Amino acid sequence: MTTIGFYDTKSYDRTFFESAARAELVQWRFHEFHLSTETAATASGAQAVCVFVNDRLDRPCLEALQRGGVRLIALRCAGFNNVDLVAAQALGLVVTRVPAYSPHAVAEHALGLLLTLNRKIHRAYNRVREHNFSLDGLVGFDICGKTVGVVGTGKIGRITAQIYRGFEAKVTAYDPVPLPDWAEARGVNYTDLDTVLATSDILTLHLPLTPDTHHLLNERTLARLKPGAFIINTSRGKLIDTTALISHLKSGHLGGVALDVYEEEEGIFFEDHSSQVLQDDELNLLLSFPNVLITSHQAFLTHEALGEIARVTTENILKLGSGQPFLPTTILTPVAVP
Ligand code: NAD
Repeated sequence: MTTIGFYDTKSYDRTFFESAARAELVQWRFHEFHLSTETAATASGAQAVCVFVNDRLDRPCLEALQRGGVRLIALRCAGFNNVDLVAAQALGLVVTRVPAYSPHAVAEHALGLLLTLNRKIHRAYNRVREHNFSLDGLVGFDICGKTVGVVGTGKIGRITAQIYRGFEAKVTAYDPVPLPDWAEARGVNYTDLDTVLATSDILTLHLPLTPDTHHLLNERTLARLKPGAFIINTSRGKLIDTTALISHLKSGHLGGVALDVYEEEEGIFFEDHSSQVLQDDELNLLLSFPNVLITSHQAFLTHEALGEIARVTTENILKLGSGQPFLPTTILTPVAVP
């Protein structure tokens, strides 16, 4: 029997993970709070911890986990910027993730955000419910013929690009590791980042957060965008400098911004704060803009993705102590990232 400390648990996590393994093989210790240095002692006696995007596994947290007997950190997400992989490796902890649970889920949400924001469906929905059938202020644009800039053509970026091609948009892309065969087959043009920024009507971000990509969109790069450009970010909040973004929204430079992730989402997203005064002034400001649409990091939230996350994570957990290798595509240690 393997014991797993499971952090930041939501009802849907329990549903999918409890049905992913026979009850006699794993003992899930579901916690609603996050894993951090302060809470790491709660993993004592567990062989593995299962964590999500806003659990913070810095060196002191990892040291506490190791002291308590943890040997496996199983991330139930793709991104891993919240784990100190160098420290994990030095401490002999195995770190796994779920590299691709459903890239379609995220790409489809990114398109859903753009369609909603552009055609103002969220505003129309509220109006009609109040018997306001006026169309004033609801004018959008055709995606057909527009230029979409895809930054990052990994699993999610490629599907996003393909969907936009289905809308008959022109798609340009930037990725330091381009895939020319795919691009040619799909009618996508690779170019440099600066050109993507300067020519896109819709800019959609599908790259990881690393020290190099932190604030990829900042005062200088946002200034390169076309007047009226739309930005869609379903990747990581810290790819965008929020203060600079607000300034470009207030000046009227940007046409619209849709975010499924936010720079300071930790402690806010995934939770119900509807009875409290939100203390984050920049988030309050963004929420007040008519051309900003925010969802709470839900792009991954489909039945297919949750099922795959639970399946892959549990398969790795069951390999612990069995002598069988972990799923090779899921292992983040030995460290091969910046
Ligand atoms: P992936 O690893 O398949 O692709 C990432 C791509 O980004 C790679 O092709 C890489 O070469 C490229 N890249 C790296 N640095 C770059 C740079 N400086 N500029 C441009 N491109 C760069 O990852 P993926 O599965 O497509 O996921 C992309 C991101 O989406 C993840 O890193 C994660 O942060 C985010 N994500 C969000 C959700 C959500 O629910 N909102 C869910 C899953 C993933």
